[in-house]
Amino acid sequence: MSVKDNLTNIKSELPEGVTLVAVSKTKPNEDIMEAYEAGQRVFGENKVQEMVQKWEDLPKDIEWHMIGHVQRNKVKYMAEFVSLIHGVDSPRLLKEINKQAKKHDRVIPCLLQIHIAEEDTKFGLDKAELHELIDSEEFKALEHIKIVGLMGMATFTDDMNQVRREFAQLKSMYDDLKIKLTDINILSMGMSGDYTVAIEEGSTMVRIGSSIFGARNYA
Ligand SMILES: *Cc1c(COP(=O)(O)O)cnc(C)c1O
Repeated sequence: MSVKDNLTNIKSELPEGVTLVAVSKTKPNEDIMEAYEAGQRVFGENKVQEMVQKWEDLPKDIEWHMIGHVQRNKVKYMAEFVSLIHGVDSPRLLKEINKQAKKHDRVIPCLLQIHIAEEDTKFGLDKAELHELIDSEEFKALEHIKIVGLMGMATFTDDMNQVRREFAQLKSMYDDLKIKLTDINILSMGMSGDYTVAIEEGSTMVRIGSSIFGARNYA
């Protein structure tokens, strides 16, 4: 199956109101252009350098999402163009994004990453840290970032009941956040292996890579 066919199939399954981020990390520009020509405009990358290179090379109406863990010293390279940063998990990172966004006279939309998985290798805030962050005066003073929702990754397991519980937990934190902040409208959860469950549990944005572009080769 071609990239175009995969994309068309997945899009036909997504309910209205669920945004597809085509995760193009490690994939060449030709693959991205195939998806672009099939109408896809939102792409996700997990390495800043790679995303900057693709942004320079590819059409300027592409919306680039940073979905990976971000090092503070890399924020400056993407502040000019990044459309959404999914993996914000510390006040220090948020402050750096604010600082770099200000230099470009922008307000950068961000998602706070929440730790929902069992594995402790995955990044993210817990519930207490989330509320501590958004209740702080320091956070309220940041005028060049806008928190628009939450992002999370479920445990890598075949146990779909566990995955479902973790997504449900994230959805409940998302609903709580909506009461505290305005502009909360993105719940980024679901990848190739679990996006149907994520959508059933209330996802509004799925990040799908291998089901569109094929398996990644890290060799
Ligand atoms: C790579 C990646 C994805 C996409 O994974 P697939 O299983 O290929 O769909 C989604 N989210 C994040 C944060 C990723 O790093």
